[in-house]
Amino acid sequence: MSSIGRPQPTTGIHGSSAPVAKVCPTSKLPIMSKLPKPQFKRQLPENSQSNAAKKTKVNAPEVKKCFPKKSVELRKPKIVAKKQSTKRTGCAASTKISKTGNRPVAVTKKSVTAPKKRPAWDLKGRLSDMEKLMEMREMTNHSLQRNLNENNQQTERLDMKNVCLQKSVAQKDQILSENCQTISQLQRNIRDFEYEVATMKRRHQCETEDLEARNSSLELKKKSLEGEIEVLHKECIGLKCNIAQMKSDQVGMEAEVASIKGLLEKSQQTCTHQEEIIASLHAKIATHLDTIKVNESNLQEAESVRRKLHNTVQELKGNIRVFCRVRPLLHEEKETCGEINHLHFTGIDCNVLEMDKVDESCVGHRKSSGSKYSFDFDRVFSPDSSQVEVFEEISQMVQSALDGYNVCIFAYGQTGSGKTYTMEGPNNPNEETMGMIPRAVAQIFKCVDELEANGWTYTMQASFLEIYNEMIRDLLVSGEDKLKHEIKTDSQVTNLTLVDVTSQNEVKKLLEKASCNRSVAATDCNERSSRSHSVFRLKLNGSNELTSQVCEGTLNLIDLAGSERLTSSGSSGDRLRETKNINKSLSNLGNVIMSLGNKGSHIPYRNSKLTYLLQSSLGGNSKTLMFVNISPKEENISESLCSLRFATKVNQCNIGTAQKKMK
Ligand code: ADP
Ligand code: MG
Repeated sequence: MSSIGRPQPTTGIHGSSAPVAKVCPTSKLPIMSKLPKPQFKRQLPENSQSNAAKKTKVNAPEVKKCFPKKSVELRKPKIVAKKQSTKRTGCAASTKISKTGNRPVAVTKKSVTAPKKRPAWDLKGRLSDMEKLMEMREMTNHSLQRNLNENNQQTERLDMKNVCLQKSVAQKDQILSENCQTISQLQRNIRDFEYEVATMKRRHQCETEDLEARNSSLELKKKSLEGEIEVLHKECIGLKCNIAQMKSDQVGMEAEVASIKGLLEKSQQTCTHQEEIIASLHAKIATHLDTIKVNESNLQEAESVRRKLHNTVQELKGNIRVFCRVRPLLHEEKETCGEINHLHFTGIDCNVLEMDKVDESCVGHRKSSGSKYSFDFDRVFSPDSSQVEVFEEISQMVQSALDGYNVCIFAYGQTGSGKTYTMEGPNNPNEETMGMIPRAVAQIFKCVDELEANGWTYTMQASFLEIYNEMIRDLLVSGEDKLKHEIKTDSQVTNLTLVDVTSQNEVKKLLEKASCNRSVAATDCNERSSRSHSVFRLKLNGSNELTSQVCEGTLNLIDLAGSERLTSSGSSGDRLRETKNINKSLSNLGNVIMSLGNKGSHIPYRNSKLTYLLQSSLGGNSKTLMFVNISPKEENISESLCSLRFATKVNQCNIGTAQKKMK
């Protein structure tokens, strides 16, 4: 038995399992990329099949069809033919094609037992066989014709179906191409979307990174803020405690304020009462002040009268004044001496020095039985007197030098009594402690400036010398002074350095130089004992262009050598000679002054270098002031008494009225 299968399309549009055509192989979509290409296979038209079948042998029918454009492979209809072994007699197997519905089924019918081969002579038999065969063939033809008709009909139906299918295919193709377009559009869209997605991904990644960075920084910030919050929280707690404390304080203070208010009210009442008292006191004070004013004016009048009288006395006494100055105890002296008990400073004009001393013959005025001596001078400066106060008293004399007087200011006293301190000041002087020489110079320069307005012009020359062992030495020469200096009759000194000075500073430098050059030798009395007389001389020449006046004055500031007695100084050898010379010149100074006071015919100026040098400044035309410097130490009482006695003698002299040297 053989069966002819209806050609089945291996692929088809209608099949549920039909593969989808791979429309776009470039598509990135994974699903699409897996799709196979669309393949279409068509059913062969039945008529062509049937025609072919006509030509095909019945037991091995094979149908092959080809379509013109699209190569559509049809499943080969499997026609199973069972070969009937035929006898050479020509009895072939008959083929019967049966029909099952629309399907043509080729049925091969095995012929019935083949007739026996007839002998050649049996023509009749052979003819009947042939007639039988012919009959069979006609039957077969007839059935084949029927089959053919059926097949033709079927072919027609199939053609119609094919047309329908082709239409459908065209439609499907149309849809397919549309779908392809849609797909490509969609793919484009997908690509766009993908690009967009990638861009967005990148942006998103950037944003994510940014956000992460921000997040981490915010985290850090958050942590620091948390720390701050913690600190603030603690502070807050502390502040709360403080507030609580302050509140309690406030309550206390409010109570205090209330009590203070009460007190204040009381005080105000007291104040009002006291104000009334004060007002009445003010009235009283006013009346008293009036009285005081009247008294003061009376006093001033009395003072001016007193000064006038004092001046008259001075003039009557002659132009020599003596100031006594007692230096304070030095730091180390205070430890041994304690306080100054033996000296008393009295007198309305602070001009009396009283000294307690037993067993001492007196030249001064003995006040009480054998123990108290009183010395009267123009002024007595107690240990606490400052350099300023002292200078105030001598400033008038300095002024006189500018007015054309010859002025001599001496410092007399034993070594260590304060002569150098008074005249020059301490080693490192300042505004407070600078001595009479720098102050006198300052005042002179100040007055020169002021007098310029009145037409006065001054030239000044300074010199500084010392008399040591009756020898003159120029203190303004650096190093050893080898020149010989002679005193001439006009009190000028040969080979002496005269420096034109125009400012206070220049003079200051000269004083420093002189101080370095000054002879200083150690003795038992004072380790900085000055063993020579030093004479600072400032010659002042003034001229007034308005009045055509000229004046010549000389200011001599003399720091005398120590006046201690020979016995107490413990000197010997060179020192003894020094002391003798010093004492000689000092006693001669006293003699000169005495002679001047006694109006003697001969004044022994030439007996010593000092008096000879000061000849023009002592006596007649000069104003002289002597400081007698006193040591506050009780052990120096004897020396002090000697000095005070000498000074008293000088003070008692009247050396005449000074006159200006005017032309
Ligand atoms: P002198 O020149 O008479 O030998 P100094 O002038 O050298 O004596 O004085 C001796 C010491 O006393 C110095 O140390 C000095 O500074 C001190 N001195 C003298 N007078 C005074 C004073 N008024 N105030 C303070 N110290 C003084
Ligand atoms: Mg001295």
